[in-house]
Amino acid sequence: MAEVRINARDLGQVLLDNFCERCFWFTRKFPLGQNHPFASPMPGIVSQADTYIKRVVNTHLQRTGSLPSWLIDALKNSFPGLDFRSVSFVNIVRWQFSLLEARCVLAGEADAIWEFPDGRWFIADYKMASWTQTQQNLLPLYEAQLNAYAYLAQQLQKKAVVGLALIYFEPEHNVQAVNDLDLLQRTKGQMMLGFRCTVVPVNLHPTNWVEELCERVFSILSSATPPTGKVGCQGCQVLLDWFRSISTNLT
Ligand code: SF4
Repeated sequence: MAEVRINARDLGQVLLDNFCERCFWFTRKFPLGQNHPFASPMPGIVSQADTYIKRVVNTHLQRTGSLPSWLIDALKNSFPGLDFRSVSFVNIVRWQFSLLEARCVLAGEADAIWEFPDGRWFIADYKMASWTQTQQNLLPLYEAQLNAYAYLAQQLQKKAVVGLALIYFEPEHNVQAVNDLDLLQRTKGQMMLGFRCTVVPVNLHPTNWVEELCERVFSILSSATPPTGKVGCQGCQVLLDWFRSISTNLT
């Protein structure tokens, strides 16, 4: 049987309310990417801003030896027991770990890893978005993603992970809420854009939680035939009826 590869970003799909095993199976077996007429490409500006945010925070930590003060303040409120003033930068690499008797590989690359002086790690993922209800609905997906990184850190680097967080960067689109002096700062030298930072703590689960999710994803993706569709969803039947109608008209 071919090895099943699971991306940490995908692991929590099975936890979402609207999850359909059949849909998941088809889209992972036959990835179309943007090569179809109904594709809605992610605006380039979002991925560019993601990369920019990562670089700004990492460079600050590497060059000055500490996180930016505004980020330390935001983290302090959500993790009062941790002192983020003393963390150091950990180089990010793409991890992959073989499990389920080498039938499955879990892979992923965290946005940020910080090490406390006692050697324990903190893992974060950056989101260039507002912390809205839509994002809250996606929390199980992100929770699995971050726990997958913690699992990989423990298995591959033998590191204890002490906390996980999502860090939202929301562009200052509501200019009425920004005072005039702050707005003037944005035009010093060049036009700049401010971001509001929101830290969302994520539950840290034991390793078997991640392994059970991997087993569930593996059982879906290792199936030779598509699983049954979501109860109550008529989409597949509508599509099948449409295919039958056009094939009848063509013959
Ligand atoms: S149309 Fe509905 S049942 Fe069919 S694969 Fe998509 S979500 Fe699942």
